[in-house]
Amino acid sequence: MGPDQHVSTAEPQQSSSDEPETALETARRQLARARSNLEIDDAIHERLRHPRAVHEVTVPLERDDGSVDVFTGYRAQHDSVRGPYKGGLRYHPEVTRDECVGLAMWMTWKCAVMDIPFGGAKGGVVVDPKSLSADEKERLTRRFMQEIRGVIGPTKDIPAPDMGTDPQTMAWLMDAYSMQEGETIPGVVTGKPPAIGGSKGRERAPGRSVAIVTRKTCEYFDYPLSETTVAVQGFGSVGANAARLLDEWGADVVAVSDVNGGIYDPDGLEVGAIPSHDEEPEAVTRYAEETDVSRLSNDELLELDVDVLVPAAVGNVLTEDNAAAVDADLVVEGANGPTTFAADAILEEREIPVIPDILANAGGVTVSYFEWLQDINRRRWSLERVHEELDSEMVTAWNAVREEVEQRDVTWRDGAYVVALSRIAEAHDIRGLWP
Ligand code: NAD
Repeated sequence: MGPDQHVSTAEPQQSSSDEPETALETARRQLARARSNLEIDDAIHERLRHPRAVHEVTVPLERDDGSVDVFTGYRAQHDSVRGPYKGGLRYHPEVTRDECVGLAMWMTWKCAVMDIPFGGAKGGVVVDPKSLSADEKERLTRRFMQEIRGVIGPTKDIPAPDMGTDPQTMAWLMDAYSMQEGETIPGVVTGKPPAIGGSKGRERAPGRSVAIVTRKTCEYFDYPLSETTVAVQGFGSVGANAARLLDEWGADVVAVSDVNGGIYDPDGLEVGAIPSHDEEPEAVTRYAEETDVSRLSNDELLELDVDVLVPAAVGNVLTEDNAAAVDADLVVEGANGPTTFAADAILEEREIPVIPDILANAGGVTVSYFEWLQDINRRRWSLERVHEELDSEMVTAWNAVREEVEQRDVTWRDGAYVVALSRIAEAHDIRGLWP
């Protein structure tokens, strides 16, 4: 193990049930819960509680005025028993080692539930991206790649965009890696611009998968889409794309929101007329000012009497305080971790199915996998092919989870973790522990 790799066995601070959970707490709680539904070797469980490695680096940056600042960067690699590590890189002032570890664990489960041959990783730089000029961001990105290059690669660990990073950031990472290798290696990162090997349909994929999973779930619970009402919190990459597709497929999207509040029309909104967060930030509230549509708060949106609630904005919005007031028949998680552990228990008690994030929004990592396949095969897929294959992968994963839900009489979240963990544990068992 190199000097920059540390494996901590320290437990994260336990938060009380009404406080937001950290990503690491949630990931370990889910692992423990999934394990209680499965026969899993103690040693394998213990290995999965810890990351394989966490790389911590310092990233010196020459500012535009000639001064030098030094930033901390991380790459947490959780488990690679099923294939190379995969996961986002974020630029955010609150990035921490433990957050990277928790999110890397989450990626392991997400790849496994989708049966994608990747393991989980996450990384980032502790920096406020808004404090960087475009040139500074480029220099920081290239230097960060240089610092972590030994542990990154198309068959080792493949980063992707996350908070504060975007397709241009991925292009700089890919260029910095390729320049040092002496050849163009597009498969080292995903979420790139299409001109350099990015996949068609990548950016809209998480929202598309949320819509596909909602459609399947409505079919299963006998809600014909044409008679189904949906409320979507958050109108960004995930929320807007999910809302627009569900609208296109015949559902009535009755409420949507942005950070400033939401809008509501019981007969269905014209979601195609509202710009998404990417197209025009905070356009939902502006749309409300320009039309006479009814307004409601984000809290009220979560408690609307609808068939399907899709929290697709941020984590920890369904909590111990409001879970008893949720009036939707089904919840489909668009955001990562929108439901706290305590809220989950209340919704389970109330028999409201919650389709978990690791299944519902996994379209992003699935199309990242398609991008990687296209890159290593030097072959482009049409948008139609991406959509077809995504639909098929999502339906297959949804069915695998449904089988566990039916056979074991567990929640949808437990079913998804059982699918993921049994695949990972089986691979560990067959490969064995060496030496
Ligand atoms: P985004 O930035 O594109 O959009 C977020 C939307 O939520 C915006 O409309 C914003 O105004 C709104 N919002 C922000 N804070 C809010 C708050 N406190 N209350 C209500 N609304 C709020 O983000 P995104 O990419 O759509 O991501 C949303 C969630 O989905 C996040 O949890 C993210 O981790 C998760 N996710 C994103 C992707 C992806 O590839 N984009 C993939 C999987 C999961």
